[in-house]
Amino acid sequence: MNKTVLISGAGIAGATLAYWLGRNGFDVTVVERASAQRSSGNPIDVKGPAVDVVESMGVMPELRAAGSEVDRMSFVDATGRTRSRLRLSAFQGGAGSREVEVARADLAGILLEAAKEFAEIRWADSISGIEQDAGGVDITLDSGAATRYDYVIGADGLHSNVRRLLFGAESEFLRHLGMYAATLPVEKAFGDEREVVMFNQPGRAITVHPSKGKAVAAFLFRRTPVPDLDHRDLALHKRLVADAFAGEIGIFADVLDQLRAAEDIYFDSVSRISLPHWSIGRVALLGDAGSSLSLFGDGSTLAIAGAHTLAQELARTPDQPRIAFDTYERRHRVLVEPKQRGFRAAEAFMVPATSAGIVARNAAARFMR
Ligand SMILES: Cc1cc2nc3c(=O)[nH]c(=O)nc-3n(C[C@H](O)[C@H](O)[C@H](O)COP(=O)(O)OP(=O)(O)OC[C@H]3O[C@@H](n4cnc5c(N)ncnc54)[C@H](O)[C@@H]3O)c2cc1C
Repeated sequence: MNKTVLISGAGIAGATLAYWLGRNGFDVTVVERASAQRSSGNPIDVKGPAVDVVESMGVMPELRAAGSEVDRMSFVDATGRTRSRLRLSAFQGGAGSREVEVARADLAGILLEAAKEFAEIRWADSISGIEQDAGGVDITLDSGAATRYDYVIGADGLHSNVRRLLFGAESEFLRHLGMYAATLPVEKAFGDEREVVMFNQPGRAITVHPSKGKAVAAFLFRRTPVPDLDHRDLALHKRLVADAFAGEIGIFADVLDQLRAAEDIYFDSVSRISLPHWSIGRVALLGDAGSSLSLFGDGSTLAIAGAHTLAQELARTPDQPRIAFDTYERRHRVLVEPKQRGFRAAEAFMVPATSAGIVARNAAARFMR
């Protein structure tokens, strides 16, 4: 009989894993807390090792059709005058021009469409209980359904439910990195379809990123952690952003006004998730659930590459979870750990803490190719 797998989370990692496990003959169910696939979101890259994975899934034409056309980033002052500029090819991974940038939810949606050939998706539900023994994992869902699976994978993101239920409280694994990020769709880009615009002041940055005739703004700011931040308190999130960007921000004041008026924004701390082990028994973590670096670590590429590695290892030793999970972890940590170590460099480049740092970054950007 085929091995049964429950994946928590139909995001980038969960959808990719569902596809590859299904293609390898596993019987796959995905449970997703949201009630439907959303669209758009922040544009993110599919780079390096993830490119081969999505090409083998046959979804590259869809990703290219949904992808943005950006090829440069301009660093501007509050009047909009360009101070420096770099070609985004400077950030390309090993797959060069085969790499693509797609809105986050569109990427997850395209991967999930491919997975639907092999997997059943249960929307608007979530795991409420996990009990395991040597032979399987007993799962209870919020909806009341109770089923036994051979394996369960937590691909449910930075604030993973599976991790909380089985591995321990989030505070044990999450380290706040002294920064917050907010994103929202905005009315228009500042440049053309190929240009990401970034405005910096010490310790804070605003980017406006065009994608398919739309644009997404991101506000990044350094700040000490807010104790017991309520992840659903929209008014508080807006206030934190507005306080962080108080003062003269020139032509970007309009983007801040759009945030103040928005009915929905993405808001979270920039945090690192790290665990000593990504599996316990027959349950393993994948993607941001096990190793997030928020927006600074090629998380989508790692989610796709990790899903492919995990599916390969489960297919190789389907009756030996210890071997499959340990080998997945050993292989995938080789990609994850350098990214986690590189956080400070990425942060200093994107959100310099001082005026001198902004000048130095702008000077360095001129030489990046
Ligand atoms: C603002 C921002 C910008 C970013 N920019 C980039 C970038 O440029 N390049 C890059 O590589 N990465 C970027 N990232 C990181 C990237 O988005 C993540 O690393 C990637 O999405 C991780 O994929 P995932 O599938 O592990 O998690 P997610 O994409 O977060 O998916 C998790 C899924 O689990 C679901 N879920 C959550 N809780 C439950 C539950 N209890 N039960 C069931 N389902 C649940 C969620 O609804 C979601 O569908 C960015 C992140 C942010 C926040």
